[in-house]
Amino acid sequence: MTQEAHVTQGPLTTEAGAPVADNQNSETAGVGGPVLVQDQLLLEKLAHFNRERIPERVVHARGAGAYGTFTLTRDVSRWTRAKFLSEVGKETGTFLRFSTVAGNLGSADAVRDPRGWALKFYTEEGNYDLVGNNTPVFFIKDAIKFPDFIHTQKRDPYTGSQEADNVWDFWGLSPESTHQVTWLFGDRGIPASYRHMNGYGSHTFQWNNEAGEVFWVKYHFKTDQGIKNLTQAEANRLAGEDPDSHQRDLRESIERGDFPSWTVQVQVMPAAEAAEYRFNPFDLTKVWPHEDYPPIEIGKLELNRNPENVFAEVEQSIFSPAHFVPGIGPSPDKMLQGRLFGYGDAHRYRVGINADHLPVNRPHATEARTHSRDGALYDGRHKGAKNYEPNSFGGPHQTDRPLWQPVSLTGGTGNHAAPVHREDNDFVQAGTLYRLYSDDEKARLVENLAGFIAKVSRDDIAERAINNFRQADGDFGKRLDAAVQALRG
Ligand code: NDP
Repeated sequence: MTQEAHVTQGPLTTEAGAPVADNQNSETAGVGGPVLVQDQLLLEKLAHFNRERIPERVVHARGAGAYGTFTLTRDVSRWTRAKFLSEVGKETGTFLRFSTVAGNLGSADAVRDPRGWALKFYTEEGNYDLVGNNTPVFFIKDAIKFPDFIHTQKRDPYTGSQEADNVWDFWGLSPESTHQVTWLFGDRGIPASYRHMNGYGSHTFQWNNEAGEVFWVKYHFKTDQGIKNLTQAEANRLAGEDPDSHQRDLRESIERGDFPSWTVQVQVMPAAEAAEYRFNPFDLTKVWPHEDYPPIEIGKLELNRNPENVFAEVEQSIFSPAHFVPGIGPSPDKMLQGRLFGYGDAHRYRVGINADHLPVNRPHATEARTHSRDGALYDGRHKGAKNYEPNSFGGPHQTDRPLWQPVSLTGGTGNHAAPVHREDNDFVQAGTLYRLYSDDEKARLVENLAGFIAKVSRDDIAERAINNFRQADGDFGKRLDAAVQALRG
């Protein structure tokens, strides 16, 4: 839909609907006199204007979104009883919000940063949100480190800017970040657009079937447009010339009917294999190598409709990894577990307790039947229905069937580190990724990393950072060391 379709007919009015006689001159006490408090229009306009912004997201503030369709192309009912995954050819409405992570709301799109991939499926059993990134892994594996990590990516409390010292101090002291950092400073660290990158659920999730059998799954969305990236120099130029480059590209491609699509794949691990798998399958800093669990194609995601109002549908869109449907649930991934709380909490703060009543957020293929009521901006949707349960008035009632299956545990409570499996360490998969890069990409990776590490003010911080890459791959560390020394002199 284009902007012309939205012209409103009729006279201008106040918020209360009264016609406005003069929208150019405020009301004064005589010609040239002071402005009167009785000028309702002026006061209302200024007051509303002051309240136009809601708190921006602390992370993923800068984003763009579009509606689309997910089509199932493979019968996966042997692994999950989720209805939207039950029948080949079945279509489910979606909304996908892309984002950068560290920048503020008005920041440029063409930057080196992971891209958020927040996908809402409007299923007949409720909304299912898959809130991932364009990378299969993440910097840390425990949500308790997340606020500290993000503080190093955002503005320093004294300088008000992102500081290389903070970034590299944290990454150097958090060797589990080495894999993701090796990815981020590779070519895919700056996608050419949102259309030209893959998406990943990133975490491991639980699927369970009608028989109650459990499978662990990872989601992959492979771009049908092909991977296309920007070099650092190209990105620097584009970020200045067209800060909205990704947002514009997405909107314009949908406007011209060139609908972007992704082929959807899953990796499936029978639950019994998890304990003995060579990597901890719930560690967000690790992938499951394809040779262990080959990706299986299950569907197609197409984006085909732009939001009509960016604030209402993108800024106020909310996603939560805790939004599951029957047949799908969480894994014990400690980052995921923290996010199950963090996202809902962020939205209750940013958008309000009735955020999930907004058109973009509410279920589209079913209705929400809760006994929650009232709160700021409650729209009265439940009318006079009873607001408690159990009740004998035919109100909504529990099903007695959990969405997911229980997970068996051992041991006592405690601040336990995630279990280490046979081949787990913080560097092995970073090394694999480095060796997968072409010679050209390796050279760009080293140049990109060295340029940033060279900005660090303390030698010990730089050395600790380089040492992590040295442990991933000897050649990687050697080249990076030399490049940093050359820049630091
Ligand atoms: P495979 O050779 O089976 O798969 C390689 C994977 O790496 C493919 O998913 C491919 O994505 C992706 N890839 C290819 N080139 C690049 C690049 N320049 N930058 C980032 N990703 C790239 O190997 P493994 O499964 O053993 O994985 C090897 C390494 O690949 C891992 O350590 C991980 O860092 C990375 N990777 C692995 C993924 C996985 O799920 N196993 C997913 C993405 C990355 P594509 O097919 O789109 O080219």
